[in-house]
Amino acid sequence: MTTPNRMTILVAGGAGFVGSHLCETLLKQGHRVICLDSFLTGREDNILPLCAYDGFRLIRHDVSQPVRVGERLDRVYNLASPASPPHYQADPVHTMMTNVAGTLHLLTLAETQGARFLQASTSEVYGDPDIHPQPEDYVGHVNCTGPRACYDEGKRAAEALCYDFVRAGRADVRVARIFNTYGPRMRADDGRIVSNMIVQALTGAPMTVYGDGSQTRSFCYVSDLVAGMIALMEAKAAPATPVNLGNPEEFRIIELATLVRDMIPTRSRIVHRPLPQDDPKRRRPDIARARELLGWQPRVTLAQGLPQTVAFFASVVQPPVAKKTV
Ligand code: NAD
Ligand code: UDP
Repeated sequence: MTTPNRMTILVAGGAGFVGSHLCETLLKQGHRVICLDSFLTGREDNILPLCAYDGFRLIRHDVSQPVRVGERLDRVYNLASPASPPHYQADPVHTMMTNVAGTLHLLTLAETQGARFLQASTSEVYGDPDIHPQPEDYVGHVNCTGPRACYDEGKRAAEALCYDFVRAGRADVRVARIFNTYGPRMRADDGRIVSNMIVQALTGAPMTVYGDGSQTRSFCYVSDLVAGMIALMEAKAAPATPVNLGNPEEFRIIELATLVRDMIPTRSRIVHRPLPQDDPKRRRPDIARARELLGWQPRVTLAQGLPQTVAFFASVVQPPVAKKTV
């Protein structure tokens, strides 16, 4: 049976954590999906479940180089960029080029094809915010020379390109400002807080809290984010501005560490490590715009999403070897 309004959808970064869930949801909806990915941080394991669908195709390509696709496209999602600080700082120039040149190449592809475009932007465009919670019209507080700049400023430049295309009438563009998202298919070595805490607790390693742990983040479960991205892409009229997508429930990092430690039987203890430079002190989305324009809001609480994430990591990481007692 063919799906009415079956579309052909390109997901750049589709082999990554969020991208693979987005591809899977779109395939389940009956669309054809082309995943374009360089596998910089993406994994073949993430796309194995997608290969079961007739409508799935994979292109290995680095978006910092021009992109050509020999099929007619209806939608282009741009998620291609490393997202965790250790990964995006490993090759900062490439991260910047992925976000700037990569977004330009994909916007040009969307323009040529007459396809709708969605940019996966980030709450990092707000930097270390002096307004809390962060609404979309807050212009941010970013250090353009610091170690996070390759990502923050790369994403800011990508947003600028998006709205240059909009002003010139070159493409129908939507920009999602995504706040911290977690769930199954994150890499065990991703380096972000949720995966680090869970993997460390499962393996009995020290749970590393940077600084005193009083900094805050707001954690969105991946299925909620994917629903929000699709709602934004499919909204009849493109919102004139970016839209925050995130869960407004805010936690101190030390609270998250304690929550994970209480959830997993572990001998791990919490240890403190130096706070990285430019680490934002607090972050929480104002999602009034997403509620109003998309009728979207997150449904999965951290208490519901964490156990599913723990179950995923328990299936991929080795538990500690029990010490023999003689
Ligand atoms: P991820 O690292 O798991 O996925 C990124 C994907 O992009 C990977 O498959 C990687 O191989 C691919 N990629 C990277 N550089 C590429 C390049 N030059 N060419 C082609 N492919 C490339 O990260 P994620 O958490 O799934 O994030 C996906 C997107 O969402 C990113 O753009 C990120 O900036 C954005 N985002 C994520 C979060 C979050 O909390 N997960 C928050 C804000 C924004
Ligand atoms: N963090 C931490 N321990 C870790 C990894 C991260 O305390 O092992 C802190 C980090 O300093 C930051 C917060 O957790 O304050 C969220 O970090 P993450 O890298 O997940 O996301 P981002 O800083 O990009 O929001």
